[in-house]
Amino acid sequence: MVANACAEIRGIVFDLDGTLYVCDRYAAEIHAEAVGYIAALMQISTAEAGLIMAATRLRLVEESGTVPTISAVCTGLGGNGPDLHRVFLQKLRPEAYLVRDERVIRLLKRLAEKFTLAIYTNNNRALTARIMNCLGLDGLIAHIFTIDDTWRGKPDEEMVCRVLAALKLSPEEALFVGDRYDVDLRVPEQLGCPVYLSQHLEQLLRLEELISRSGITPSAGISATPADRTVKEPKSPLDF
Ligand SMILES: [Mg+2]
Repeated sequence: MVANACAEIRGIVFDLDGTLYVCDRYAAEIHAEAVGYIAALMQISTAEAGLIMAATRLRLVEESGTVPTISAVCTGLGGNGPDLHRVFLQKLRPEAYLVRDERVIRLLKRLAEKFTLAIYTNNNRALTARIMNCLGLDGLIAHIFTIDDTWRGKPDEEMVCRVLAALKLSPEEALFVGDRYDVDLRVPEQLGCPVYLSQHLEQLLRLEELISRSGITPSAGISATPADRTVKEPKSPLDF
């Protein structure tokens, strides 16, 4: 579907983890807790669980041609979202790793004056709230869609449609911003949304300039390029 190139952006839908913050040490903790969950589930050592998860991840990449989320890897090994997120909620400590970045806070405050802002994340609502608090972003983003709303994890076309409907935005009016093309951006782009791949804070901080300079549309050159889609997975290959 080709979106209307003249349409104006009215809303921005951000991924959370790896997009509004980047923290390799916290990503490592997420990975460790997911490994611990699978180890307990399968009654194997964490070393074995790590190897099995890596192999499962590779198999899912080969089967689907896209990079799976950590949730998909765990589900592929017999786990389930609610149990995995119960572990995450109990054990993850975003407060130990994440700090405010005044540049991001100022960016979102400015964007909130012009656009409807939303977060659409595979994280759960309680952890999302704690992370937003750590980042100093409380109250800046009015609409938050989390995995435990429906347990339909990204990527999911129906959920993208629900997000657009809830925000009262047509696809060409909603810019999706995320750090993983396969997880965050592929489906919105296929539906006609403009998309922006952001994997570093410097990229995130350029967003306002890019919007104001070009008017972001799928045909205006800001959408993820073919190269983005194939080579730019984040350094920490994890997403809830
Ligand atoms: Mg992410």
